[in-house]
Amino acid sequence: GKAQIGVTGLAVMGRNLARNLARNGFRVALHNRSQARTDALVAEFGSEGEFVPSTDLAGFVESLEQPRKVIIMVKAGAPTDAVIDELVPLLAEGDIVVDAGNAHFADTRRREAALRDKGLHFVGSGVSGGEEGALNGPSIMPGGSPESYAALEPMLTKISAHVNGEPCCVHVGPDGAGHFVKMLHNGIEYADMQLIAEAYDLLRHALGLSPAELAEVFRDWNTGDLESFLIEITAEVLSQTDPTTGGAFVDIVLDQAEQKGTGRWTVQSALDLGIPVSGMAEAVFARSLSGDVVRREAAAGVLPGPGDVKADVDRDAFIDDVRHALYSSKLVAYAQGFDAIRAASDEYGWNIDLGAMATIWRGGCIIRARFLDRIKEAYDRNPELPSLLVDDYFRDAVASGQDAWRRVVATAATIGVPAPGFSAALSYYDGLRAERLPAALIQGLRDLFGAHTYKRVDREGSFHLEWSGDRSETTA
Ligand code: NDP
Repeated sequence: GKAQIGVTGLAVMGRNLARNLARNGFRVALHNRSQARTDALVAEFGSEGEFVPSTDLAGFVESLEQPRKVIIMVKAGAPTDAVIDELVPLLAEGDIVVDAGNAHFADTRRREAALRDKGLHFVGSGVSGGEEGALNGPSIMPGGSPESYAALEPMLTKISAHVNGEPCCVHVGPDGAGHFVKMLHNGIEYADMQLIAEAYDLLRHALGLSPAELAEVFRDWNTGDLESFLIEITAEVLSQTDPTTGGAFVDIVLDQAEQKGTGRWTVQSALDLGIPVSGMAEAVFARSLSGDVVRREAAAGVLPGPGDVKADVDRDAFIDDVRHALYSSKLVAYAQGFDAIRAASDEYGWNIDLGAMATIWRGGCIIRARFLDRIKEAYDRNPELPSLLVDDYFRDAVASGQDAWRRVVATAATIGVPAPGFSAALSYYDGLRAERLPAALIQGLRDLFGAHTYKRVDREGSFHLEWSGDRSETTA
């Protein structure tokens, strides 16, 4: 019989997604530009379920029951457009094209509009969890029309990760909403990893703990509020020894972080929306700095630090302080991330259910964490919550840890260990709660040099001071 769904693009992600669908009882059509991948899948995993392989795209489309459901899982960017262009003339009205690759949401909006004009549904869907997730249950963030989601829902919710019986797959919203939320997930992942790295670095420098001892600290943290996949694998990486030297694995790894670009996309989009995502921005910048070998080499040993100052801290107390700093900074990063999602949802009319986004990320993806339940609960309490930080749980969590957080940032500055994530998060927190910000002075400066006008605290309207004249105030 005909296949219920098809996957074109059978590299690691597409192959595993196709296997996941087949293992869950769906009949899956297969296609890949170079046939070798299709043949390999059938040869190696053909017994896992019902596959319908095709050598060309026309045959692939022909093998699908109508309305057709095609998942594209190829390299993001131009290759995705090439596949769409080849596919579209072969499809019929009502067919559904799913792009499960890592597309930029603006591309997804463009593609969705173009296919809608042709009577086709285009679903840009975020898929997170890497190879392993694609096979055993990813976190799935589908955009597109409600009708297309209704048609896909039984399959997507079956193959997604589940937490407490609930699928980590929810219709995010129209057109690019799914890919936007996937992008934000990656941005938050950047921030999370940066904060973890700062906690490690500070503890190592301030206390002189070995990577193996630090692995124990993270293992312990993973039994509390910080419990998450990233903390768990941090313990694993820190306890690993290098097979060649027998020393700590982390010490033989070159300290230059790479990036594929989704963190940068997140920050660029947030800039466009006017939303401060300083946690993610500092994470992207920290990676850029780590890779800037020329300037690092020019500065190392040349720019003076604070000298051999010892952190004046008690071991166990400082470990607990850093735990608080990490958790509070992480809450800020998530609060900022959800602000960006809310702003995009308003800007593009997506009507995103913020609490539901936290449930999608509870399983299958890299940022899966116990504390995502707290985010869901916060939005259940108040769907109009202006910032996660003002929810009772988050407010109390930060309040109970803020003295520790301040001590950690101060210690980092004193001993000269970079902590851009911790300190930017704390500055954001203090800026958010400030009764009065120095923006008043900035407005004054702008009025002086550019007659940009200012507003007053005591009455309505815009005003300008005659700075080069008699300094009287005029109404703008
Ligand atoms: P790659 O991104 O490495 O892409 C390889 C696949 O794209 C192959 O099937 C290749 O076909 C196909 N392809 C490339 N160019 C073209 C073209 N012009 N026309 C037709 N097909 C083309 O594969 P991955 O499996 O790693 O990722 C697939 C998608 O999933 C990407 O968008 C990626 O960003 C995203 N993703 C990846 C994750 C991961 O952990 N790897 C996690 C989440 C999302 P051929 O075999 O013929 O070369």
